[in-house]
Amino acid sequence: MATYHSTRSRTAQLSAKEAIRRGIAPDGGLYVSDELGQSKIDLEGLANKDYFELAREVLGTLLPDYTADEIAACVDEAYGGTFASDEVTPVVDLKGVAGEADQGSAPAYVMELWHGPTSAFKDVALQMLPRLMARTSANAEGAADKIMIVTATSGDTGKAALAGFADAPGCGITVFYPEGKVSRVQELQMSTQEGANVSVCAVRGNFDDAQSAVKRIFADRGLADRLAAAGVQLSSANSINVGRLVPQVVYYFAAYAQLLRAGKIQPGDAVEFCVPTGNFGDILAGYYAQRLGLPVAKLIVASDKNNVLFDFLTTGTYDRQRPFYTTTSPSMDILISSNLERMLYYLAGGDCELVAGLMTQLAQGSYNVPAELLAKIQAVFGCGWADEDQVAAA
Ligand SMILES: *Cc1c(COP(=O)(O)O)cnc(C)c1O
Repeated sequence: MATYHSTRSRTAQLSAKEAIRRGIAPDGGLYVSDELGQSKIDLEGLANKDYFELAREVLGTLLPDYTADEIAACVDEAYGGTFASDEVTPVVDLKGVAGEADQGSAPAYVMELWHGPTSAFKDVALQMLPRLMARTSANAEGAADKIMIVTATSGDTGKAALAGFADAPGCGITVFYPEGKVSRVQELQMSTQEGANVSVCAVRGNFDDAQSAVKRIFADRGLADRLAAAGVQLSSANSINVGRLVPQVVYYFAAYAQLLRAGKIQPGDAVEFCVPTGNFGDILAGYYAQRLGLPVAKLIVASDKNNVLFDFLTTGTYDRQRPFYTTTSPSMDILISSNLERMLYYLAGGDCELVAGLMTQLAQGSYNVPAELLAKIQAVFGCGWADEDQVAAA
């Protein structure tokens, strides 16, 4: 069941449990499985499946070394009674939300991802990750017995991760956030978190500085050795962690199932998902859903004024050397969108060497993808962005 390896090399093959424990590969790459999409989710009877059943199916498929009992227990603990909606992620008609829909425009719906305990959409994944992690140690050979979570946040991840990991047995968590660049509410949510194993640290700089520093901590072999000697394994609660990404795949199926139930679509109809994007975790989960057989016509990357992804998706050049804007959507104020690396890996047909080369170039400032690769990416991903005036107007 050792199907996971780094986006940048195939030498080390890990089980899903090991990949979740480690968070990020020692070479800086993200864990991916070449089995993605080999077995599909059964769409027969999808309309009658509730969130719990879908979660068991999707997690069971993507994390094959967890037993069915382990997955079922994780799903019950994560979503049983923690979300203020029976649907967990209810889908509502945009007409009901916005009052009046534009004449002649395609029907549009909004998936409400904010019904979790901290009101961040990240609760969906971060209520699950600690439960998945708690079940990694038992049969992992030579595994350290304690896990230290180190995470950078642009605002929402921090509180959702702290809430998920607070007092989790065998785990500690430290969250780093950019000082003055998260909202006052987010800062208070984090700094008032209860729990014996939690800490919060403000850093001078922006989210990219915090995230890059966390990545450096992970890449520090000397530190890893010292921690290993003390029985501690470092891990991440950012969407670079497979265990954070996979739970998000579920709600794409849940959205589709709800639209089927409401008679808004027919089985097999292809739908588009438009996803506010920062670190590319949420929208990547939509791509995983497509690979698992969900009829997805297009995934549309929505950006704010920090439109590095829009430029990349339209030109094929990813250039992180640009001004950083602080906007009203801090969770999307990101110049280095980590999970793009997984998308590049899959759309480049699993070419680790290409991905490693691009990431080396990115560390120096920018990279350019070959034209055929860009065409493949554009066949799956659309894009758009809104400036601060447009955001305020909407
Ligand atoms: C985290 C977050 C995003 C960005 O999601 P990614 O998975 O990083 O692309 C967008 N909006 C809100 C409100 C968020 O909390």
